[in-house]
Amino acid sequence: MSSALKILPPVEPLANALANSVSLPKPLVVSFVRKEVASWRKQLLAGTTSDRDTIEAAITENLEAFASSRLQPVINGTGVLIHTNLGRSPLGKTAAAALEKIATGYSNLEFNLPEGTRGKRAGYLETALACLVNAEAATAVNNCAAALVLILRHLCDGEKNEVIVSRSELVEIGGGFRVPEILETSGAKLVEVGATNKTHIDDYAKAITPNTALILKVHRSNFYIEGFTAEPDITELSELSRAHSFPLVEDIGSGAMMNTDELAPIDHEPTPQEALTKGVDLICFSGDKLLGGPQSGIIAGRSDLIAGIKKEPFFRAVRCDKLILTVLQESIDEYLRTQAKPSETDVPNLKALALPPEALKSRAQSMLDAIGPVDKAEISIVDTMATTGGGTMPKSQIPSIGLQITPTGISLNKLSKLLRVGTPAIVGYTQEKHLLIDLRTLFDWQDTLVADRLKNILKG
Ligand SMILES: *Cc1c(COP(=O)(O)O)cnc(C)c1O
Repeated sequence: MSSALKILPPVEPLANALANSVSLPKPLVVSFVRKEVASWRKQLLAGTTSDRDTIEAAITENLEAFASSRLQPVINGTGVLIHTNLGRSPLGKTAAAALEKIATGYSNLEFNLPEGTRGKRAGYLETALACLVNAEAATAVNNCAAALVLILRHLCDGEKNEVIVSRSELVEIGGGFRVPEILETSGAKLVEVGATNKTHIDDYAKAITPNTALILKVHRSNFYIEGFTAEPDITELSELSRAHSFPLVEDIGSGAMMNTDELAPIDHEPTPQEALTKGVDLICFSGDKLLGGPQSGIIAGRSDLIAGIKKEPFFRAVRCDKLILTVLQESIDEYLRTQAKPSETDVPNLKALALPPEALKSRAQSMLDAIGPVDKAEISIVDTMATTGGGTMPKSQIPSIGLQITPTGISLNKLSKLLRVGTPAIVGYTQEKHLLIDLRTLFDWQDTLVADRLKNILKG
């Protein structure tokens, strides 16, 4: 053995010691440490010099970073309600309780109880969904991207695969969702019409050929165009597509079940009901954005089209499992029961949107009192702006309240990191020299957890 290699820590003893401190399964830690040591061996053979303590410290740090990547709860102090990086929408207690019941036992997923025979999967949910959005029929798949691919695959047939889309709607939603690429994957041929800022009904009309499969509208979820703009009304598009006997499809993105502008001083997000009333034949939207349900994609509209979609082999590949179906069923029933009234609902997004800033201010004051005097920072209560996020309403800012922490005896980076890597993880945002924790996205039961952590970090 080259003498430089003698300083390499032996794998087993180091792994044993580390497995306890990071509480990960031992085989995983052994495998992790083995790879790290092998990488150090290469570096030492290549002439790097180091010592065992440095190597052990580096391996420990990497292992801790790896351990922190395990899916775990995070306290969201960002003020972004539907934060895609933080898991989008939290679920209500009723939905979570239902999930536990179904998850830990058997269920009638595909069993008809009165008849004792094989039953229809998601039959109840589909009826409830259609009732909620006032559609002839509805179904659900794994996410909105899958829903759109499925719709396009179903409606495009061989040569008849032209899909007309306005140039102002060739959007990128994030996480790899780009309308032109989704079309391509689905076997559709994109026919772009209009200009970036203006598309007229004639632009659509002129693009129609015998090979037109559908007109697609896509909600500009995460950006807006303003100024010299125009687009035809949905009803005009509906008349046009009807006259040529092909469907009008709209990806409405978020699927707000309530009038968002009545809930908070923000824009009106289009609702599924509005799209369908105006004559859209099929809509799709996400289950885990403003709806506040589990990750899923909901398709609603004409019953003949929904029936056809459900017969597609690809439908089988993107169908929801029983856990998602349970949570979605609970979320939809909750809307049907409470009519999306924040005072009555259990849906966290709705409640958070509707919280008045005064209520947040008094919570912030209690947190400040609980923290008491600290040495390493100045903390104050400030007005902030929360957002819905998750690719919804890019213009809308919701007046909110935050704790503004201006560190004096610790660096801003260190403070932010200590909050992120502790348990539970707390994520805020920085603005100039301050760390901000927005109260609108904190659950009230988390206030004391955040206050305690700040107190511990910022005291002596
Ligand atoms: C968010 C969004 C999607 C993607 O939805 P997922 O459920 O994440 O697949 C698609 N289209 C629009 C318009 C969106 O806003």
